Amino acid sequence: MTGLSDSFHRPINYLRISVTDRCNLRCVYCMPAEGISLMSHDDILTYEEIYTVARAAAGLGIDKLRLTGGEPLVRSGLPKLIEMLAKIEGIDDISLTTNGILLGKYAAELKSAGLQRVNVSLDTLKPERFKLITRIGDSLGEVLKGIEAARAAGLEPVKLNMVVMAGVNDDELPDFAAKTVSEGWQVRFIELMPLVGKDTLRFVPASEMRRRLEPLGELTPTLPSVGNGPAKYFRLPNARGAIGFITPISEHFCFQCNRMRLTADGRLRPCLLSDYEVDLKKPLRRGVSLAGLKKLIKQAVANKPERHNLAEGSVPKNRPFSQVGG
Ligand code: SAM
Repeated sequence: MTGLSDSFHRPINYLRISVTDRCNLRCVYCMPAEGISLMSHDDILTYEEIYTVARAAAGLGIDKLRLTGGEPLVRSGLPKLIEMLAKIEGIDDISLTTNGILLGKYAAELKSAGLQRVNVSLDTLKPERFKLITRIGDSLGEVLKGIEAARAAGLEPVKLNMVVMAGVNDDELPDFAAKTVSEGWQVRFIELMPLVGKDTLRFVPASEMRRRLEPLGELTPTLPSVGNGPAKYFRLPNARGAIGFITPISEHFCFQCNRMRLTADGRLRPCLLSDYEVDLKKPLRRGVSLAGLKKLIKQAVANKPERHNLAEGSVPKNRPFSQVGG
């Protein structure tokens, strides 16, 4: 097996697969209030097509897969896809990013299908706020149950991702951080990427987040318990869990980016934040060979941009964020 690398000599071994553009939430930073126009079901790759892409990618050196969306758990039969992906030679890590609402229902099944771990997006511990941020219902209780179900099923470590927004949830930074001590949570604080409306006004840099945590004690640098993603990790005194900071704006991590993204409608995208993509769906439906598919994957990798330019105000134009898998 040859390893994949892009034109800036970054090794590429990680594919994020968006299995649907549908979501059961409408988070304010991810979707515009009026919603987005949805892909037709025919446009969305079948599980067999996703499997074929993953097999070609694995043949080129991709060994990590993450399923995302939209909300991946709203697509029916997801454990079946995981079972198929887990059998691919060369794939040694399969994870899932979810809002957690349906995790209570599916955690055990996902684990036995071959899923290794989950990241759960959770921006607040307050039910009223949860409604405001997600624009939908009162499912915070479901999410918290889902997190416990995932831990009980052994989908560990469960990492919790909180997008920090000034004047919305930034006062909860200490509450989330305290959970790394009391519950052993692995928490990651994410800088808001200004993609929807006037988001820039809500941006909180990681340096400010760290300042807010000072009263809780010294943050000692630590290594991630698993994975080698973009977060920088720290531990509070006596904490079993860790606190990670993900800084797409104040300190971008493109130089270490190892990922490609497959959209639900079958476009391979080398960068979340730029518009270039290679269509795999048409070739797949015309019966492309595995070798032909590999060639297209290599073409997308070769066009991976050196970095995104979000901090300079350049945002992707051809798709809403929820269609690229966050
Ligand atoms: N529905 C799943 C979930 O909620 O985790 C997966 C898709 S969601 C788009 C993936 C991640 O992108 C979430 O952790 C979400 O918080 C993050 N995200 C979406 N918009 C963002 C933004 N403007 N800035 C920072 N993170 C964002």
